[in-house]
Amino acid sequence: MERIGAHSHIRGLGLDDRLEPRANSQGMVGQAKARKAAGMILKMVQEGRIAGRAMLFAGPPSTGKTAIALGMAQTLGPDVPFTMIAASEVFSLSMSKTEALTQAFRRSIGVRIKEETEIIEGEVVEMQIDRSLTGATKTGKLTIKTTDMETIYDLGTKMIDALAKEKVTAGDVISIDKTSGKVSKLGRSFARSRDYDAMGADTKFVQCPEGEIQKRREVVHTVSLHEIDVINSRTQGFLALFAGDTGEIKPELRNQINQKVAEWREEGKAEIIPGVLFIDEVHMLDIECFSFLNRALENELSPLVIMASNRGMARIRGTKFRSPHGLPVDLLDRVLIVSTRPYSSEDIQEIIKIRCEEEDVTLEDEALVVLTQMALETTLRYALNIISTAQVLARKRKSDKVTTDDLKRSYSYFMDEKRSVQWLKEQQGVLVF
Ligand code: ATP
Repeated sequence: MERIGAHSHIRGLGLDDRLEPRANSQGMVGQAKARKAAGMILKMVQEGRIAGRAMLFAGPPSTGKTAIALGMAQTLGPDVPFTMIAASEVFSLSMSKTEALTQAFRRSIGVRIKEETEIIEGEVVEMQIDRSLTGATKTGKLTIKTTDMETIYDLGTKMIDALAKEKVTAGDVISIDKTSGKVSKLGRSFARSRDYDAMGADTKFVQCPEGEIQKRREVVHTVSLHEIDVINSRTQGFLALFAGDTGEIKPELRNQINQKVAEWREEGKAEIIPGVLFIDEVHMLDIECFSFLNRALENELSPLVIMASNRGMARIRGTKFRSPHGLPVDLLDRVLIVSTRPYSSEDIQEIIKIRCEEEDVTLEDEALVVLTQMALETTLRYALNIISTAQVLARKRKSDKVTTDDLKRSYSYFMDEKRSVQWLKEQQGVLVF
C-alpha cells in the first residue's frame, strides 16, 4: 500500500529548458513567477553561486510555498541533501536551539566520498571452507587462476555466503568485489570482460607487483555531515540514525570531522555537496536562532537556506520589535524574497483535479465546481483535505463517484479555520476550557 501525502503529486517545478513554467507539469499548476524564481535560484545552486545567501517564500496560507520548495528538492536529484523542518521543532527539551539548528544544517550538507574497490576475476581452482557450528566464524581459502597466475584468498563469512548464494564450484569463472564482497559468476562474458575498451569509465586496470592484473572500480557514496557526526559519536553509534534520536553532539567531535573531511577533499577523495535546508513557519524562530542563522550562512559550507512565512509584519520573537515576516533586518537584507499569491479559480480547479487523480477519486462535474468554490472561500488545503473524507462518504453509499452532497456533508463534519474561530467566539462564556 502506498501512502499519499499532501504533496505527493509534486514531482518537480514543471519548468522547461529556458526555466519558463509550463501551465500544468510535474504536478505543478500556476504560481508562475515564484516557480520561475525558484528555478533560477536552483540554477545558481547548481553552479555553486549562492553561498551565504538565503531565500524566503512569503505569501498567504496554502499558496504553495512548501509545494514549491519540495519541487526544488525533486529537481536537485537524490544525491543532493534536502532537509525540511518546521521552526517550532527547534524548541525541544532534549537539545538546545542552536544544537537543533546545527544538526539541521549538517543534515543538509552532503559529502560525496569516492572509494576504489578491488576486483579479482578468474577461474576457481579450489575452495576449502571451514564451517563452524555457529556459522558466524566460517573461514576458508579460495584459489583462483587469473590469466597470469594463481592467487589465493582467505575468505570471511560474507564472501563464503556470497559464494554459496551464487552456487560457485571449482571450474566456474567468477569475479569478486573485495570491498563489498559481491560475487558474480561471469560465464562466457569473462572472455569479453578482458576487452579493456568495453569497460565503463569508472573501471581501471592496475598492474600489481606480482604481475597480476587487477580491476579497480570507483564507487561513490553520499552521506551527510550529520550522519558522519552520529556514526563517530561514541555515545550514540550509528543505530541512533534509525531511532532519529541523536542527542547533542560535542563541538570537539564536529571539529575533528570537519578537519578529516577537509583532508579528504584535499586528497581528492571527497567532495562537498551543499544541499538545501527548508525552514517552514520561520517567524516562529527567536532572535537567538536568527543570529545563529546569520552566522551559519557565512560559513563556506553553508547549504542554501529556504524559509517560508505566511506572516506580514510580525514581532521578532524574543524582542519587542516588529519587522516584515518577523525576521530581523540584518537577516532580511541577505534574503531573496519570493512572494506567492492566492490562486485563481482556474488554477484551483486544476490542482483539485490533480489531487483527485493522485488519490484515485472521481468527482462529479458539479462537485468539482462546488469544491473549487469552497477552496476560494476557505483555503486550498482545506478543500484538498475534504476530497478524501467525501470519498469515504461516497463509498458508504456504495458509489465510486463523489457528489456535491458528499462534499456538503464533509463540509458540515469538518470545520475550516474561519468557522472554527467563529464557533469558539460564539461559545465564549458558554464553554469553560
Ligand atoms: P502554509 O503557509 O499554510 O504553510 P503553503 O503556502 O506552504 O501554506 P502548501 O502546503 O504548499 O501551502 O499548499 C497547500 C496544498 O496545495 C498542498 O497540498 C500543495 O501540495 C498544494 N499546492 C499548492 N500550490 C500548488 C501548485 N502550484 N500546484 C500544485 N499543487 C499545489
